Order: sequence, then structure tokens, then C-alpha cells
Amino acid sequence: MIPYSRQCIDETDIEAVSEVLRSDFLTQGRCTVQFERAVAERVGAKYVFAANSATSCLHMACLALGIGNGDRVWTSPITFVASATCALMCGASVDFVDVDLDTANISVSALESKLADAMSTGTLPKALIVVHFAGRPCDMRKISELTQKYGVKVIEDASHALGAEYESLPIGSNQYSDITVFSLHAVKIITTGEGGLITTNNEALAEKIASYRSHGVTRDSEKYINNNDGGWYYEQHDLGYNYRMTDIQSALGLSQLKKLDKFYHHRIEIVERYFQHLKDLDVILPPIVTGGTSSWHLFVINFPGPDSSSIRKSVFNAMRDQGVAVNVHYIPVYKQPYFRSLGFEYGFCPVAEKYYDSALSLPVYPGMKKEEQLEVINKLSRAIACTA
Ligand SMILES: *Cc1c(COP(=O)(O)O)cnc(C)c1O
Repeated sequence: MIPYSRQCIDETDIEAVSEVLRSDFLTQGRCTVQFERAVAERVGAKYVFAANSATSCLHMACLALGIGNGDRVWTSPITFVASATCALMCGASVDFVDVDLDTANISVSALESKLADAMSTGTLPKALIVVHFAGRPCDMRKISELTQKYGVKVIEDASHALGAEYESLPIGSNQYSDITVFSLHAVKIITTGEGGLITTNNEALAEKIASYRSHGVTRDSEKYINNNDGGWYYEQHDLGYNYRMTDIQSALGLSQLKKLDKFYHHRIEIVERYFQHLKDLDVILPPIVTGGTSSWHLFVINFPGPDSSSIRKSVFNAMRDQGVAVNVHYIPVYKQPYFRSLGFEYGFCPVAEKYYDSALSLPVYPGMKKEEQLEVINKLSRAIACTA
């Protein structure tokens, strides 16, 4: 089976992990600090925290921004459910801004009119979570102009976008946002098995994130509220969680990070080969990246025409039957039964639904061999020909 994505692990990764396993400390420690520093340098952020998942990072991002009961958070419908559930975990409500059909990123014009409406009804959100879908940066300059105008905080869900750039700066530098989150799940750009990263340039937010990651407990005697009973003493100040990353994972993350550029170049090779071989097929290829560079986490094609949805389904089935695990990203979040139970109706974001109905993600990952890709391309052209 050729997967749509998979990790790329070599002997240096295995050696790095083994070294931690032979050491005295397995939990969050020295390796995690090293990993965080290396990421901070790579993405140009002041503060970086490694955690056990991007979902935990999104939860901490919302908490750090003070999101709670009665607050509203907006995000994209074309994303994994975690971009929306993080707000619900804080007791806030969630709403969705429709996307642009070509990029599946949040539409600036949809955002503009939704903000104006919310202003007039006194229902502005506290935060907007943008998603750099497939690794392609959102139009952050225009988005931040709008959010600043209405006093809305911005979180970047950059789960797909480690290594991507916007206006020549790495995603994660928070040039136009308060907090950025990356995922280190095995199918993402680099991996720690499970894991996430959260970056910010704001010291107060960083302090809160550090606290939420580890039970809301501090061992900094300068911050103690009660008497310091002695060397064993610590204090819990916040309702925190155990969202820490182990040093076993951080060793893997650090080793993987060193290969980020190599991985990126391999993805670009694959993407260019797709563009070259698919240009004559009756499919819509991803649009040219504007404003920056994509990390190409996903290569999504769309089928045109009124039968796009049934063509997508038969091509999906034909590819799966022939051992190519194509995938579909994403079912619009609000169509999930859980979100339906919160009152969302089908048709809520028509552009997102149109995108979803015709989208197909082709395999792209750094370890993919040229022969494997040519096999995918051949099977795809035959599967499409069969639908004609
Ligand atoms: C993978 C993903 C997440 C969740 O990441 P985890 O590390 O698995 O928690 C959130 N948002 C998006 C857009 C993702 O792709």
C-alpha cells in the first residue's frame, strides 16, 4: 500500500532516541529544551514549547488568550476537528468562516463581512484560528489588518506548515499572529510520533503556556503566594494539564528537525513531478502559492464539473482498490454529528462543501520513490479515464 503520507525515519533518528533511552532521564528535560531552542531559531520565534500534541497546544493557546465561557472563536471548516474543539474545551462557542475555493484557506472577503455583521450584533469573536491548509500560508497581512481593526486575537494552526514561509519569514515567527501551533504527528512534516509545538513572542502568553503544560504548578520561589515550606515545596496556581513532551520524543524531534530542508526539497520534487504529469488530465491542480512558500504537506487535486463528487468517489475507490491510499481533506468540521448537535446545518459554508465534495489528496512524503509516484500517476490517469 502506498500511503498518502508517512514518516521518514533513519538510523540517526533511531540512534538519537536510543541515547535518551540509555540515559537517566526520559521525561521532559534537557533534550526538550534543546529541541525547543532549535525550533525557536528555525522559525524565528522568541518562545517555543514542545507538548504532547498539537491539539494540546491549541487548547493551551486558547487558554493563554483567556478564552472561556461566553467567548466566541472562529476558524476554518476545512481542517481537522481539533482546530475547533480546542475552543469548546475552554467553554467558548465556535463558528466557521468560509474558505476560498482555490486554496481552501479562510476567505478574506468572507471574514470581512462576517466581522462587520458580528460588530453590528455585538457578537465579535475573541480569537480567530486560521489554518494554513496543506501547508499553504493564509493571506496573513489582510487577515491581521481585519482582526486588529476589530480587536480579535489570531492563532495560526500551522499543523501542516512547518517549513513554510510568508513574506519571507518562516511560519511560526508570529509576524501577524499571537500564537502559532505545529503538529508533530507521524503524517506531518517532521514527527515525534505524537507531539506538538507552540510558539509566541509574547512573554506573558509564554508564562501561561509553560504553566498550563505542567499542571499549573510552579517551582519558582519568587512567585510563591504562601510560605515556602522548604526545598521540596511547589505551588499550584492555575488549573493546568499534563501536556508535556518526553525527552525520548524531543530527541527524535531534534534529529528530524535537522532534516527539515532535505524533506522540503524532496516534497518539492514530488510536487513538481505531479504538476508535470497531471497537467493534461481533467483535474484542477493546486493554485500557484502567493505571498510565500508552501510546505506541501498535502497535494490536493479537485475534480471539475457537475459530476465532480461522483467522479471523486469512483477515483478514490479505484485507487484504494489498487493499493494507493489516497485520502480526502477535510470533511467540513460542522458537518460532523457532534457539531450538528450544536446546531450547525448542512450548507453553512457552501464553498467549503463544494471543495470537500471534489477533493482528493494524492500521496506526498519525503521517502516516496520516483517509481512509486509514477505508479500513482498511472493508476490515477486510468481511474479517471474509466469515469469518462
Ligand atoms: C493534525 C492536525 C491537528 C492535530 O494535531 P495532533 O498533533 O494530532 O493533535 C490539528 N489541526 C490540523 C489542521 C491538523 O492537521
